[in-house]
Amino acid sequence: MKNIQTKENIDFDNAKPRWDIIAVFTIITLIPIIGIPVYGLYYDFTPASFIAFGVLLSVSNISITTGYHRLWSHKTFEAHYLVRGILAIVSTISLQNSILKWASDHRRHHGNLDNNFKDPYSAKRGFWFSHIGWMLRDYPSAKVDFSNVKDLQRDKIVMFQHNHYLLFGAGLNIAISLILGLITEHIIEMFLIAGFLRIVVSHHTTFFINSVAHIFGTQPYSKTNTARDNALLSFFTFGEGYHNFHHAFPADYRNGIKFWHWDPTKWTIRLLWLAGLAKNLHITPKQRILTQMELAQKTGQ
Ligand SMILES: [Zn+2]
Ligand SMILES: [Zn+2]
Repeated sequence: MKNIQTKENIDFDNAKPRWDIIAVFTIITLIPIIGIPVYGLYYDFTPASFIAFGVLLSVSNISITTGYHRLWSHKTFEAHYLVRGILAIVSTISLQNSILKWASDHRRHHGNLDNNFKDPYSAKRGFWFSHIGWMLRDYPSAKVDFSNVKDLQRDKIVMFQHNHYLLFGAGLNIAISLILGLITEHIIEMFLIAGFLRIVVSHHTTFFINSVAHIFGTQPYSKTNTARDNALLSFFTFGEGYHNFHHAFPADYRNGIKFWHWDPTKWTIRLLWLAGLAKNLHITPKQRILTQMELAQKTGQ
């Protein structure tokens, strides 16, 4: 469908490509896609690189969901500075931009949900746009504006990570793959699988929350927006697939509220609380959830 030619639409359609970001995504994606099969033609793979892949993917992605998302973007709990420091360091290896930038985009997503000109990754613009397309051009909706993260700008850990992001992101990834490669004597394999492949998988599992979780799934808590609950996606995203609940109650530290809901991020926060390293875990009153569910079913709201 052709866009109506309003000024907003024209500005949007004329957004210039971000060749720097396109180049980074292309290189990071092509290296494992081409490199791993070519490597496999000449050498045998070792279990060590796949174990490192699994461990690094898990710890870095759960640091994103626990730290970037539920701690810094939504303030659903408070954490000891040691926890905040570890989360800031480990999540950096995911190369998903700094806490400050990520949280600023994400708060704008929640505050302007499904608004094609204000939600940076509006699912109303389709799968590709909400998944990755929103980053590939200089769209007005994704303009950097830190006015919504002033609280985070007062956080020394957040600002330290933001100011040294490129150095840390690149440096930590190179150091980890190099050290593990030297220990196992399979440096190239470690870079390909525990380095590049892990970053690509980490990126797209996170991106699926902006695309898949706004397109496929159920809407028990609100039908007024595109957010969906998707249990299968939760399995791959450490609990973030219960996205309909999350958009209805973003201040809740849980996304999967039933005890059997697969939400390892919720369990991590709970464990931190048991260890005395987290406090003020925000839980939505049960009655409020039930009332909202009834409203959603009866009125389609
Ligand atoms: Zn969302
Ligand atoms: Zn959120």
